[in-house]
Amino acid sequence: MPGPFFGGFIYHHDAELTPAPQPGVRVRVAFGQSSRVGLVLAQGDAQGQETRPIEEVLDHVPLLDAASLACLEWAAAYYHHPIGEVLSAALPTALRGERSLRVAGLKITASGRVALETGEARGKRQQAVLAALAQEKEGQGKEDQDLLAVSAIPEADAGVRRRLLERGWVELGEVNAPAEWPAGEPSRETPPSLSDEQRAAVAAVEEGGWQFAAWLLEGVTGSGKTEVYLVLIEQALAAGRQVLVVVPEISLTPQLIDRFSRRLAARPAVLHSGLSDGERLAAWRAVAGGTASLVIGTRSAAFVPLARPGLIVVDEEHDAALKQQEGFLYHARDVLVWRARQMGVPILLGSATPSLESLRHAWAGRYRHLRLHQRASGASMPAMRCLDIRAQPMEGGVSPALMTAIERHLLAGGQVMLYLNRRGYAPSLVCHACGYVAGCPHCDAYLTWHRDAGRLRCHHCGFEQGVPPDCPSCHAALSVRGMGTEQLEDVLAARFPGFGIVRLDRDATAGKGVMAQSLARIARGEARLVVGTQMLVKGHDFPGVTLVGVINADQALFAADFRGPERFAQSLLQVAGRAGRAERPGEVLVQTHDPSHPVLTRLLAEGYTAVMAAELAEREQAELPPTRFAALIRADAPDAERVRGFLSGIAEQLGQDANDRLSVWGPVPAPLARRAGRHRFQLLLLARVRSDLHRALWQIDEQVGTRRPGQRLRWSIDVDPVDLA
Ligand code: ADP
Ligand code: ZN
Repeated sequence: MPGPFFGGFIYHHDAELTPAPQPGVRVRVAFGQSSRVGLVLAQGDAQGQETRPIEEVLDHVPLLDAASLACLEWAAAYYHHPIGEVLSAALPTALRGERSLRVAGLKITASGRVALETGEARGKRQQAVLAALAQEKEGQGKEDQDLLAVSAIPEADAGVRRRLLERGWVELGEVNAPAEWPAGEPSRETPPSLSDEQRAAVAAVEEGGWQFAAWLLEGVTGSGKTEVYLVLIEQALAAGRQVLVVVPEISLTPQLIDRFSRRLAARPAVLHSGLSDGERLAAWRAVAGGTASLVIGTRSAAFVPLARPGLIVVDEEHDAALKQQEGFLYHARDVLVWRARQMGVPILLGSATPSLESLRHAWAGRYRHLRLHQRASGASMPAMRCLDIRAQPMEGGVSPALMTAIERHLLAGGQVMLYLNRRGYAPSLVCHACGYVAGCPHCDAYLTWHRDAGRLRCHHCGFEQGVPPDCPSCHAALSVRGMGTEQLEDVLAARFPGFGIVRLDRDATAGKGVMAQSLARIARGEARLVVGTQMLVKGHDFPGVTLVGVINADQALFAADFRGPERFAQSLLQVAGRAGRAERPGEVLVQTHDPSHPVLTRLLAEGYTAVMAAELAEREQAELPPTRFAALIRADAPDAERVRGFLSGIAEQLGQDANDRLSVWGPVPAPLARRAGRHRFQLLLLARVRSDLHRALWQIDEQVGTRRPGQRLRWSIDVDPVDLA
């Protein structure tokens, strides 16, 4: 099924092949000497076209329903990705091969029905089994309606089963193994009474009549967005509908699952990459078959079929993790908005810091805008202030003013979080005598010194080496430049001994269960100091945190990507949102060398909406997304000239019929121009009208022919890119 093929293949089958392959079933197809598994998309007459013979139909009941197939075909066309890879991304791993879902089943015969009705079947057990078989089974595929898995009949009734078979009242067949899902327990928790703003948000969605509408729920950190979801989810579940909740991070799901399980009488089916194939298959089938009512997952859950959809929720809709960054480059939020429309159900997009794309839709009235301005618990928003660190005597990246504030909050009994988006001890090792910097031999990047591990590591390709004792070129002593979280942890542990410190970054939380342990230490108040990267930004609710310090705001402020200012405002407000969530008021201190930077000053003085309005004006001026639609063509190969030539060829071809409807920028080297020994270039296409962009993409495919142009060159199309790296 997976393969770099655009239109799919045409298969044929003999008239006798039973059952006839329906759309959505897997088939085994002969491909030359070998055979492969394919998925049937549609049936039709293929007179005169090249076809391949179907050897066997693997499923009696479609794995994907018509709505799912339509969505996947749309996604393949929209993201310009081979349909085979799209289909396999949408199926759980266990179903990508030939694995059969069929088990022995029983079916009631016509004479069996008569026997049941006339009372000819005497024994109580016989009647019970026949009655069970006569019932329509909910959640099973059409073909399975009158079949019951043998395993569903109690073991004690084996004799009864044999007698029923002997009398011809039942017959044997094959049935899809039942996808069972345990029911949840009744709610163990009384919900808080909603604030006025929360109630208004709930009422607005209710008044929408559960039809399709995209709702942007913009609520400050801690404003109770999740409570709004919960109330609406409960209603959808009570109406017998399914609810799909998608979150950006796997690490956020345990808390959410816990909270949802305590509140809702439904056991959530969970779909994320941390599951075994078996767990994933069970959850996926329970959702697709309609036995599980509530599903919580990360981005790949965006494609799970829903038998009786009622509501879709996307939490932290601004988060770039909702966009798949390799292979099939879809955006889960955008796919879900499409599906909500297709299925005619409301979709809630929640965030404290919505993406400019969604805000623009809301401001233009295409999305309905719901806002929560206050924190639900009554806590106030933290006070945010800038610290000018120019010419300050820094102690391990911490200015005297921040150091004093940390001490003050610790002595007052608060917890302190320090955000630094660089892991390792120091981002580079340099020689002051000759200017040598330890660089990666395969990338245009420096090596980060990881002192705990005693290694120099490249964060882009994984290359690592030992730490040289002195400068390899002049043998002078090497010194560190810049700050990483390891170093910050060291400095603070030495300065504030006895307060307990936890570091949250990819290195410190790599071991199984370490992350949960660290979070628990923070929650219990054993660790009063927390140092971390991006991991701190995401959704945690620690009531004891009163101070959040941002060690280096400049890094994000001066990012190369045109989304730099938007990203900066989002991560700053998200990390700031960890402060002062309970009784004690919070404080946020932001260290910078450029306190008069317009984005920073506007954010502090006027807030997020003002920053985003200014951003939108700038993007309009520069004709960048979301004002125009974009696609990024990336290519890489060991030979730089070959990559440049490949993209130049595309650019020229497009340029020939370019007009004012399509802009072609590039080719230019990617921000990281060489990674893992490959030279990387990109071409940005921009158009005001989406169809102009798609026409250009089809043209490129025609020109290049296949996704594998050979000579070790790789290339890809990224529609609506969120990251220009
Ligand atoms: P968000 O999803 O916007 O970050 P949450 O729904 O997690 O906010 O709520 C933040 C905190 O406020 C949680 O501890 C939650 O239990 C509490 N909370 C939410 N709504 C209310 C309410 N109406 N009254 C009291 N506390 C609330
Ligand atoms: Zn490297």
